[in-house]
Amino acid sequence: DRATPPSDVSTRTDGAVTEPTNARITVDEPTGGLTAGLDPVLQQASGTWIAWGDGDADFDVADEHNCVAVPPDDPSYTLQRIDLSEEAVDSYYYGFSNCVLWPLCHGFVDLVNDRSNDFEWYRTINERFAEAVSEHATADSVVWLQDYHFALASRMIRDRVPRSTTVAQFWHVPWPTLATFQHCPVGDQILEGLLGNDLLGFHVDRYAERFLECVQRSLPAAAVDWERRTVKYDGESTRVVATPMGVDAESYDQDARSVSSSQLSSLFDRYDVSRENLIGLGVDRLDYTKGIPERLAAIERFLEWNPSWHDEFTFIQTATPSRTDIQTYEQHGALVRSEVERINQRFGTQAWDPIVYTEDYISAADLCALYRRAELMIVSPLADGMNLVAQEYVAASVDSDGTLVLSQDAGAHETLGSHALTVDPTDVSGFAHQIERAVSLSPSERHRRMHTLRNRVFDRDLEWWMETQFDWIRYLRHRTSRDA
Ligand code: UDP
Repeated sequence: DRATPPSDVSTRTDGAVTEPTNARITVDEPTGGLTAGLDPVLQQASGTWIAWGDGDADFDVADEHNCVAVPPDDPSYTLQRIDLSEEAVDSYYYGFSNCVLWPLCHGFVDLVNDRSNDFEWYRTINERFAEAVSEHATADSVVWLQDYHFALASRMIRDRVPRSTTVAQFWHVPWPTLATFQHCPVGDQILEGLLGNDLLGFHVDRYAERFLECVQRSLPAAAVDWERRTVKYDGESTRVVATPMGVDAESYDQDARSVSSSQLSSLFDRYDVSRENLIGLGVDRLDYTKGIPERLAAIERFLEWNPSWHDEFTFIQTATPSRTDIQTYEQHGALVRSEVERINQRFGTQAWDPIVYTEDYISAADLCALYRRAELMIVSPLADGMNLVAQEYVAASVDSDGTLVLSQDAGAHETLGSHALTVDPTDVSGFAHQIERAVSLSPSERHRRMHTLRNRVFDRDLEWWMETQFDWIRYLRHRTSRDA
């Protein structure tokens, strides 16, 4: 679910691209995040990456198994695309994945919309992936599944591959509390599916613990070893770990250092931002979990309390539309746009708008320019598995003079909370106070905080996360071969 750049090539967030006009394969990597991180791992390991795509099915650069070798100039791994029909995308992706599991895992029980057939499609597509995996997996293979779109696939894979094949999964969204999980119409099947993994990763401890609690309460036949965070169920053993995902800190640092003043000037011209103003920044997908209306309310309160900041403070909010086929997202977008307009009408002047709002996709280079320039970054989701933007901001803050305002409800708060300014995104006044505090911190205090944040983000970067996952996989493989 990375926000993806608009493109005339047929692409999905999984990075696979075919260009329909001239039989050439081009690769267009989405910014940052998991996809960019997996590519070098696969280049080294020479594996197969299986992903779904909804690109142009008429044009075929793939072989009869829908595989292409990438990167095109020096192929080192195989990319296999699973084509999904429109109905499958509607039910599997927009339906069960994003109208049941997504709201449920983020604690938005009221937004769960369980339409008939969506779960059946979810099962069918998980099965198609399991089939595809089993065609490639050998006794030595490591199968690594990503995210909540594949809650059933690992058990299906386990049933189809040799015992010594390692099956691992990383769950990138939060795991809900037991009370919330109990609203899941097919909770037991989700848990049983995930217990097909040898290794199941979450970002932070509380998600791992909540998962174990759900297993203990929902599956009486499961034996939970809390100390080792291991579940024995149906003859299989699943190790549950918490490994916070990081960003490629070095590359954000480098990109931020090479930002030119003309690049920044043209960005400020494009969005009509005064170069002299103190800049606050929010970078999000346009998603109800990101807490954008709550953030706008806090900024409004801050402006109410601080007339001296009028004309001198600009908040830039980028909100990239996503999942626009879902009505809740459409309604949410309309709410955000109307709130921005209302606040700008309330406080704005002919020469100044307090909030500069864009739904443009911002390139990595421009994001780095904004990250480096912004004195204040607000990351205030109502719930977020991790949040990479908060870490990218820190990595790009090469002058160490910015302040991060961070929600207590982002996974990233576990590692960054102690040196960011923490907010409860639903407490408007408390939030506004933290914005006031952020804009008036002394330079030495800002440096001190950012220095520690930078150490954390560099220590726990994307490479560390990948290595830790593979260390666990190696450890579990060793143990399995020893026990065999
Ligand atoms: N992003 C981007 N351009 C945009 C907006 C977002 O490149 O205009 C990227 C951002 O740099 C980050 C990712 O999208 O790498 C968002 O990841 P995050 O974990 O913060 O949130 P998610 O969208 O995965 O829920």
